[in-house]
Amino acid sequence: MGDVEMNPTKVTIVTNAPAPGAISVGPVGPDEMAVTCPSCLATVTTRVERKASTKTHMIALAICVCFGCLCAWIPYCKNSCRNADHYCPNCDSYLGTYQN
Ligand SMILES: [Zn+2]
Repeated sequence: MGDVEMNPTKVTIVTNAPAPGAISVGPVGPDEMAVTCPSCLATVTTRVERKASTKTHMIALAICVCFGCLCAWIPYCKNSCRNADHYCPNCDSYLGTYQN
């Protein structure tokens, strides 16, 4: 007893691995794109749902501070400031997200 060794080795946790169970077609862009759906194997043009990201809120806050709250809606209307979730229009499978 009492011979427990302290291990000073720093453990680095890799967090950028894909989520288990998620089907991905690889990197996706900010706009609709033609892919082969891994779920139904059809060649489809993805359906894109754009969502405000944390960055969108940060930009909105910055604009609000610098230019006033009346301009804070601008990043929510710009596609380039939002994440784009791609779905298969054929089977509704999630295909990937373009992170902004
Ligand atoms: Zn599909």
